[in-house]
Amino acid sequence: MQIAKSCVTCGNKNLIASPAVLMPFLSHRIFNWQPQKINKNWKINTIKKGNTYNMCNSLLCKKCKLLFLDMRFDKNELGRLYKDYRGESYSRIRNLYENNYNYRTNFLSKKLPHLKKVESFILKYTNKIDVILDWGGGNGRNSPFKNNRNTEVFIYDVSRVNTMKGTNKISFEKIFTKKFDLIICSHVLEHVSYPRKLLKNIYKAMNKKTFLYLEMPFEEIMNIKDSNELLNNKKHWHEHINFFSKASIESMLIKSNFKLIRLNMLNTKDDKTKRSVFQVLAKKLN
Ligand SMILES: [Zn+2]
Repeated sequence: MQIAKSCVTCGNKNLIASPAVLMPFLSHRIFNWQPQKINKNWKINTIKKGNTYNMCNSLLCKKCKLLFLDMRFDKNELGRLYKDYRGESYSRIRNLYENNYNYRTNFLSKKLPHLKKVESFILKYTNKIDVILDWGGGNGRNSPFKNNRNTEVFIYDVSRVNTMKGTNKISFEKIFTKKFDLIICSHVLEHVSYPRKLLKNIYKAMNKKTFLYLEMPFEEIMNIKDSNELLNNKKHWHEHINFFSKASIESMLIKSNFKLIRLNMLNTKDDKTKRSVFQVLAKKLN
């Protein structure tokens, strides 16, 4: 784990910080650091008694307004967090701290309500979707076009779960031996420590004609315009360690040699929540 000294999307070093808590599910699962009650039995005279949690900082980039966790987990640490994602050991630890988690598991294992809208958004710009790669697509539950008879859908995912009927699992090495018409990376970039590093790998898997579709949440807190107020409202960090702004997406793409074709905000209303997501379509710059 490293502590970020610059913005992970635009590279700017002008950051403002505010203290926050790394949620105990993450500190437990990644580091086996569990919350404690410090009492007199600890025999430490120089600190106050009370509850301990893992402290961290919320950082805000003054240039592109990316709001992010200062801790940047390495590959092994993220591997421990996402191993058997939403499986048995994951759920057991998560239930220690979050009582409503079973409900969320059920909710999250359902199909995204806006999948049809994703497909029509992409089809506005290209109808060549013969071979698709879903980068970080899990079991393929939310892979667009998988029910399309003429589309071959490949899924690459670090969690190594089995993929659904109508999709093909692909290894990291094999990715670079194929030609893709479209690469999808949906709800991944908010989880990774170095989004530009991931985009660099995706770039290598693309050719001049390949389209890239990115999707990430527009977190509600990002509606707060005042920088200090925004920072002071972000007091905890969970699995989403990057909260994107429009400018942060634009600069991340420019820095990674992509040409932005469309950046859209989509409301994905369903019964329980009113969420928005960023939809991004891009191509290689050259
Ligand atoms: Zn930035």
